[in-house]
Amino acid sequence: MNTSESSAPAPATHFIHEIIEADLAAGRCQTVVTRFPPEPNGYLHIGHSKSICLNFGTALKYGGRCHLRFDDTNPVKEDTEYVEAIKANIHWLGFDWGEHEYYASDYFDPLYSYAEQLIEKGLAYVDSLSAEEIRAYRGTLKSPGQNSPYRDRSIDENLELFRAMKAGKFEDGAHLLRAKIDMASPNINLRDPALYRIRHAHHHRTGDKWCIYPMYDYAHSLSDAIEGITHSLCTLEFEDHRPLYDWCLEALGWPEPRPHQYEFARLNLSHIRPLMSKRYLVQMVQTGHVSGWDDPRMPTLSAFKRRGVTPAALRDMNERIGVAKSNSEVEYAMLEFCVREDLNKVAQRRMAVLDPLKVVITNYPEGQQENFEAENNPEDPSTGHRSLAFGREIYIERSDFMEEPPKKYFRLAPGQEVRLKHAYYITCQEVIKDAEGQVTELHCTYDPNSRGGWTEDGRKVRGTLHWASAAHACKAELRHYDHLLLGAPAADQLLESQLNPDSLTIVEALVEPALAAAQPGEHFQFLRQGYYVMDADSTPEKPVFNRTVGMVDSWAKQQKKN
Ligand code: ATP
Ligand code: MG
Repeated sequence: MNTSESSAPAPATHFIHEIIEADLAAGRCQTVVTRFPPEPNGYLHIGHSKSICLNFGTALKYGGRCHLRFDDTNPVKEDTEYVEAIKANIHWLGFDWGEHEYYASDYFDPLYSYAEQLIEKGLAYVDSLSAEEIRAYRGTLKSPGQNSPYRDRSIDENLELFRAMKAGKFEDGAHLLRAKIDMASPNINLRDPALYRIRHAHHHRTGDKWCIYPMYDYAHSLSDAIEGITHSLCTLEFEDHRPLYDWCLEALGWPEPRPHQYEFARLNLSHIRPLMSKRYLVQMVQTGHVSGWDDPRMPTLSAFKRRGVTPAALRDMNERIGVAKSNSEVEYAMLEFCVREDLNKVAQRRMAVLDPLKVVITNYPEGQQENFEAENNPEDPSTGHRSLAFGREIYIERSDFMEEPPKKYFRLAPGQEVRLKHAYYITCQEVIKDAEGQVTELHCTYDPNSRGGWTEDGRKVRGTLHWASAAHACKAELRHYDHLLLGAPAADQLLESQLNPDSLTIVEALVEPALAAAQPGEHFQFLRQGYYVMDADSTPEKPVFNRTVGMVDSWAKQQKKN
């Protein structure tokens, strides 16, 4: 094999990779260095998976590296619990930053010195207007701002005040360090943006060392430069911040090659878009609407994991969506499609009866039992077989029987024959009812020559039912989920009345005994019901399974195959 050919990256499929390839070809960059910069103020959600796949995926594709940088410049909302959860989520998604774990707070010393340099260059000043006055002086989208009366303080006075800010001489909000750019700029981000503010707050890493903290735009561009990031990829809402990103680096004289920022469209998913922001996720957790950050109804990566969504499915979804320059919304069904694609390959098949109806096989000898070999996954023969116990009494799904069936009903009905998956053909002979006329039991006969679910005479049976053996099945709790929000609200505002009261349904089911011995995190396809994953709440007495996703049109498809 020609190694140089086999290691060449696949051609670019989107504008960011085109830019990178042009930079590599022109020698503007030798090693591609990206970063994923989460703020540790909550758990990551599915939108972050796009940024993770793009940043880490780009580094892998071009043989570069991707740094994990915690953007921990806001001491008030940040917490080490979030840092640990974020790291676990990225590893779960299949990416690794190696030794390149950084924190913006690691750079508080150099960031402070750079700020003094800006003051010395006459490019930053200490403003003493109140927050309200600053807002008024800023102007609007249509009208220019006005210079602050403190804008022309001398360099010495600015340095002295900034040092006093750092030394803790002032209350929060008393002063602000601002860049001196242009109060009339059409881009509001350039109207003397704040660089440092006073915040007497304990920081989860630097403790009480600092009482001034750098603002996001300033800290971000300089952190990128300090780490030698080549391509700083962020979402579209930062487009208007790019001139400030560049200003910070140019003002401090960072030479080329220096980092450059590129913006891409964020991932928006129908049904959960309003929840794809840590602000709302925190609300959901704090108000107790969900059991925690990993409640399987939440759109966090921890919740998706618990729900049984696989990292391969999320990577596949991001790959299929691609990277675009304008915002759009992806159908939630697309995610479900990717989940089914992956789980179909990896989930072992089992049977679970959710709404049991008893069936007595009257010509099956009493006390007899036998075992069938059942394939674990027809998509992957290497997964082998399991032994499935069968006896005279079984349960089928109540919805698989109709006393007066319409035409073309292929499931069980009086006089009609069906196949029990992996077992025998049975024919319904008698319907037993209670005083109210409710069907309580079916009496069926089986064909002993149909062992394993086929006969030598080759006669056709159109319906195949899943079942549970009365003597062997065990009880399980199945948790079924629906969207947390009703419909897709237009506004990004989360209202109490928008919450779906039926987002969680609990079903007591009868399942194969083998399932009691499963491990939390194991994936299964319950035939004709959907994909499930065992939950960590399981006990030996009662296994618990989360439904990851239902089958699509399961019945119709099944019928076609038979
Ligand atoms: P949130 O609004 O959920 O708090 P954020 O952007 O404030 O999101 P950060 O922790 O700052 O959260 O995000 C880390 C990175 O993930 C950023 O580069 C951000 O652009 C990116 N990101 C966040 N949401 C999405 C999304 N929906 N699609 C793609 N990238 C995203
Ligand atoms: Mg952010």
